[in-house]
Amino acid sequence: MQFKNFPMVSRIIFGRGSFNQLAEILEPKRLNTRAPFIFFVDDVFKGNAWLTSRIPLAYDDKVIYISTKEEPKTSQIDTLVEQIILNYKERPSGIIGIGGGSIMDIAKAVAIMLTNDGESKDYQGWDLVKHPAIYHVGIPTISGTGAEVSRTTILTGPERKLGINSDYTPFDQVILDPELTKEVPKDQWFYTGMDCFVHCIESLNGTYLNAFSKSYGEKAYELCKEIFLEDHLTEIEAQDKLMMASWHGGMSIAYSQVGVAHAMSYGLGYLLGIKHGIGNCIVFDHLEDYYPDGVKLFKQMKAKHNINLPKGICANLTEDQFDIMINVALSLEPLWENALGKHWKKQITPEVLKALYKKM
Ligand code: NAD
Ligand code: ZN
Repeated sequence: MQFKNFPMVSRIIFGRGSFNQLAEILEPKRLNTRAPFIFFVDDVFKGNAWLTSRIPLAYDDKVIYISTKEEPKTSQIDTLVEQIILNYKERPSGIIGIGGGSIMDIAKAVAIMLTNDGESKDYQGWDLVKHPAIYHVGIPTISGTGAEVSRTTILTGPERKLGINSDYTPFDQVILDPELTKEVPKDQWFYTGMDCFVHCIESLNGTYLNAFSKSYGEKAYELCKEIFLEDHLTEIEAQDKLMMASWHGGMSIAYSQVGVAHAMSYGLGYLLGIKHGIGNCIVFDHLEDYYPDGVKLFKQMKAKHNINLPKGICANLTEDQFDIMINVALSLEPLWENALGKHWKKQITPEVLKALYKKM
């Protein structure tokens, strides 16, 4: 048995208003006045002075606004890296991502690709990165993905949707300031929050489960139930708790794995561009055979918050399109093995997946 020896975020600060400490956190990390800090900021914050006026800029530091309408692509990472290399004589002092899971992943991937040759698609997989990334900081503005704590950065490449999983991927610093999530729209709050809930269900019901993952997974699961099903929390408490649930959910899967919903959601994402959070919701809604208790709670949460998920998204797909989705899902073998054990192939066939996709 080979045990994972995984790296963690080196430094973390938590609290409402902790974003104000960004300048003092970055100052000692500046290599010299020509080595800028590059801030990748979700373009939803363009013109939002409450947040952007607090980004501490000096010398050649730069804010780059990024649209998150689509999930991060390897080509997008390569373009950003090229832009930085062409515009600055020196390697940046650091990359700071401010946004949701998409921006977290872009910040991590660019920090890696600034010190590693070739294209980012070459590093999709496990432990392919050769050199440490440059200093990178994650500042989540929406809670649920666990991308702030994970050792992966999920990218859609020409051939697959797969993470750069490496010891150099995790952030050097994370700032958890729940106040930054206060304007997240309701539906998005639910979709990304459910990503965390699904992480817990898949981890806690998986064959890879161990006491490490269980302790984090159970905490995140309890927090999700409190946030999404009970009525006694203030908005501030709910924001604080969801940020910690996201962290714990991420820690839980760090030492186990996700399962059926994620495998199938990757298929939807790859073929139809359906984003991670809502994709997980669409799939999870139909997984009562695999996660009966979790799906029951999920349906209660959905009803309580009046969430209407899209229907019929696979109604007009061709046979070839089904095959593409099914192949993407089936290629994620560790997810299936975690969900159903070593002999999962006896249970999960292309026909089984097709029947499930057809319900969505
Ligand atoms: P996201 O980053 O795409 O953001 C979702 C939406 O919320 C966007 O429209 C964004 O503009 C908006 N938003 C974010 N913060 C806001 C705020 N404070 N106020 C108003 N609007 C705000 O979504 P996400 O669900 O956080 O992340 C999904 C991405 O994360 C996917 O690309 C997925 O692959 C990735 N992911 C990565 C990991 C990992 O471990 N690396 C884990 C899970 C998911
Ligand atoms: Zn997820």
